[in-house]
Amino acid sequence: VELGAINGIVGGSGERLFVLSFRDISEVRRIDRMRSDFVANASHELRTPLASLRGFIETIQGPAKSDLKAQERFLGIMFDQTTRMSRLVDDLLSLSRLELKSHIAPDEKVDLVPLLGHVRDALLPLANDVGVDIRLHLPEGRAEVLGDRDELVQVFENLIENACKYGQEGKVVEVFLNNGPGRPVEVTVVDKGPGIPAEHVPRLTERFYRVNIEDSRSKKGTGLGLAIVKHILTRHRARLIVKSEVGKGTSFTVRF
Ligand code: ADP
Repeated sequence: VELGAINGIVGGSGERLFVLSFRDISEVRRIDRMRSDFVANASHELRTPLASLRGFIETIQGPAKSDLKAQERFLGIMFDQTTRMSRLVDDLLSLSRLELKSHIAPDEKVDLVPLLGHVRDALLPLANDVGVDIRLHLPEGRAEVLGDRDELVQVFENLIENACKYGQEGKVVEVFLNNGPGRPVEVTVVDKGPGIPAEHVPRLTERFYRVNIEDSRSKKGTGLGLAIVKHILTRHRARLIVKSEVGKGTSFTVRF
């Protein structure tokens, strides 16, 4: 709590009275702390691949100077590291753009039926790579919501991509679009992967939060995907509902 102001007044019988006002700044402090944690995390995430790039360059200039085979292998790793850094920077830019317009409600009419079809098409190469079949269950006709088309593409790309990456052993990812009369429009992405232990579920949308760091690194994550999803959905006044059972799979539902 911060002391806001002290006002001295003189009471009816000449005594001095003081009014102290206090401001609750715990929220301001919390946001400040989150911001500095965020900068520290982002710097760390960029520093790791940079240090590794530097190491490889030194090796190529020194011990592996005339070893073409080793150089080729190192260049492959360096290429992957730069891809990872680009992805991280793209995600950081997305987050800061979203923060700038968080107070503006998007108002474009977006039909989710063709949108989900496009998202699936865009993810087919990745799904093929990991051996997952993406099945869409779409209603007849249209399913319109008010929103920002590109942002909604980003939401469903993130959720379906995660289901393919982390749920790949289940082989199938199913996407259900429900828009019955008198009910909210809902999209649910279901995988039959390893599931997420309950204690991690409430923290999934925190920036840089990953359940299994090694696994997430090998699966090319930045830990920012679900934070971006949450930001976009908040702007859309939509909810994200996560259900997961270890050993059975996970479902992410977006309720508009
Ligand atoms: P990342 O870039 O690491 O994929 P996300 O914010 O998209 O970051 O996801 C955060 C973490 O949540 C992931 O690292 C992963 O551990 C976990 N996760 C997300 N989706 C799933 C899923 N469908 N099944 C299991 N774990 C998941």
